[in-house]
Amino acid sequence: MTTGPLTKGGASGTFYVAPSLATALDALNDYGADGAPFAGGTWIMRAPIRHQQLKARYVAIGTIPELSAIRIDADAIEIGAAVTHAALASALADLPELAVLTSAAGSSANPAIRAMATIGGNLSASDFSAADCVPALLCLDAQVEIASKHGHERMSLDAFLKQRSTLALGRLLTKIVVPRSLCKTAHARLPLRKAGDYPVAIISLSLDADATAHVRKARIAVGSVETVARRWERLETELLGRVLDPAKAADIAAGLAGEFTGRESVEVPPWYRASVLPGLVRRATAAALGA
Ligand SMILES: Cc1cc2nc3c(=O)[nH]c(=O)nc-3n(C[C@H](O)[C@H](O)[C@H](O)COP(=O)(O)OP(=O)(O)OC[C@H]3O[C@@H](n4cnc5c(N)ncnc54)[C@H](O)[C@@H]3O)c2cc1C
Repeated sequence: MTTGPLTKGGASGTFYVAPSLATALDALNDYGADGAPFAGGTWIMRAPIRHQQLKARYVAIGTIPELSAIRIDADAIEIGAAVTHAALASALADLPELAVLTSAAGSSANPAIRAMATIGGNLSASDFSAADCVPALLCLDAQVEIASKHGHERMSLDAFLKQRSTLALGRLLTKIVVPRSLCKTAHARLPLRKAGDYPVAIISLSLDADATAHVRKARIAVGSVETVARRWERLETELLGRVLDPAKAADIAAGLAGEFTGRESVEVPPWYRASVLPGLVRRATAAALGA
């Protein structure tokens, strides 16, 4: 194995650049609790700021060919876990039904971070509540593939989010599978300042309407308000059968936003995160309609 010093200044970590998926899984299996995957490193590098300990060993997965590929088929899109936000936004730019994901990947953080941060890292950073790609992929009904030295399995993103903090050692998220549809989708986020900040709240939505603009199907996800992003199922149900209208959708959202309790943080009081949701619903619905 190729190993080298992880950090300068006396830390004794090692950094293994895996040339293939099989070698990455072997290394993660060998390292056990001492090791972890290293994708873009943009979350890992800030561990000291969060008062978290770095792992003794990292397995760099960024140059493994199959983890860096995007495959666009007629019925689904497969995204390798090590695809960066910038590469993803550029590859999906011409697919209108994936506008929600293009916008999530293309508007998060800042250009330098987007060139490094990966979609797999965004989904796997279990204590990161403001990840843009998580609600975007929830509203797209995405599945994820998880591999270990002993095999692989596919599960819904929702199931993955419920178990990611206790995922067995040696496991790696390898790809994200997004079914294609004719839905209209959009991503609306509210950063504290104009750019470069984590969002206070996120609404990602995917809507299907009939020829008279009545909603047939709705999937709406809320990010950054609670600790983990989740679907807003009551709002989805309330919108069914109604004419798609941004102001009306915001009114309905205002009546339901009380089900969210904002997470504690130093940036804003908890109530503020839930209070901005109706405005984001209005913006996202208007964007989905192309208004
Ligand atoms: C200043 C700044 C602002 C940012 N703003 C935003 C923002 O607004 N919105 C947003 O979405 N993101 C934002 N980010 C990026 C975000 O914070 C994370 O840093 C990023 O999404 C993590 O991706 P990564 O590839 O760098 O992961 P890494 O830092 O490499 O890893 C993150 C965690 O996931 C694990 N991991 C990585 N890949 C895998 C895998 N394939 N399988 C299993 N586990 C894995 C790692 O072991 C680690 O625990 C910002 C980052 C910075 C520094």
